[in-house]
Amino acid sequence: MSDDLKFTVQRPPAYGELTDMLPGLFWVRLPMPTAPNHVNCWLLDNGPGWTMVDCGLNTDDSFEMWDKLWRGLLRSRPLQSLALTHAHADHSGLAAFFVKEMKCSVRMPLAEWLSGWKMWHEREEGPDEQFASFLKRNGASGDDAARIMQAQRQSKFLGSRPPREFIRIRDGDVVAMGKREWRVITAGGHSAEHALFFCESDRILIAGDQILSHMTPSVIAPPAQPEANPMKDYLDSLTLLEALPADTLVLPSHGLPFHGLHVRLAQLREHHQARLDDVMSVVSGRTNAFLIAQEIFPRVLYANPRQAFGEALAHLNMLASTERLRRDVDGDGAIAFAPA
Ligand SMILES: [Zn+2]
Ligand SMILES: [Zn+2]
Repeated sequence: MSDDLKFTVQRPPAYGELTDMLPGLFWVRLPMPTAPNHVNCWLLDNGPGWTMVDCGLNTDDSFEMWDKLWRGLLRSRPLQSLALTHAHADHSGLAAFFVKEMKCSVRMPLAEWLSGWKMWHEREEGPDEQFASFLKRNGASGDDAARIMQAQRQSKFLGSRPPREFIRIRDGDVVAMGKREWRVITAGGHSAEHALFFCESDRILIAGDQILSHMTPSVIAPPAQPEANPMKDYLDSLTLLEALPADTLVLPSHGLPFHGLHVRLAQLREHHQARLDDVMSVVSGRTNAFLIAQEIFPRVLYANPRQAFGEALAHLNMLASTERLRRDVDGDGAIAFAPA
């Protein structure tokens, strides 16, 4: 088997263009003001109307592009249903808008709907004391914590108001979207209950952020669960997805559609194994998530501290769970790691 991924196109379509991917399945690529600068959404032709998978950030750009499409090429038939892979704002940001304007139903996993509300409350209320304490317990000084909290306050896309009503989808459900049937596969690691949609008959996988073509999805231990081991959940999900056929066409939310599912799963696994080894290589004595974030993710630390801290802690917790490191919590709750 070739080690290369086979992309269906070499260059992405223009933003906001309706691109014919497969019979009854269209691709719309929307811009984002921050990396990875775009998100892919999928439109499936139900006959009397449309199902859309993910809907983009709540920005003026995305809004204008959808407005043009729904007043133009898509106008003759309504949006009947919106399926959301997960709660992150680049996937669900415009959901409440579509529900209000088009009266569509929303399908998503329960934990994603709940996380959407949690993120929305955090954005409304601003970072709280628990986040400051999380930073300090993981090694940030008072000054560092204050600077990081300030950066967090300026971050605009923490969440958008999720839809108030939804239809819950669970792992193993079969849902009709467009003219095809899709099996729901839920996976952890990138988000709590990320949904992927697999069409057995045509071997198509709508992969969301769980499998990306050109980058690795973030894997974060969130402030609310400092002891979580999302890296294990993510690596377990790669094992689970290996059961899908090798010739599956993968439609990722960022990057380009490709063939080579098993090659990509192996690459993602190797990337994380290498990252775990990188973390081990910088641990000589007692350390903590702040020091590891500074060492391994220096650029993201102040721009996106939740990510830098969360990634560092995800790696440390995984290394502790496999007994390569020891996790110690002192009487004040400070969390440190040391070679086992
Ligand atoms: Zn995501
Ligand atoms: Zn995403």
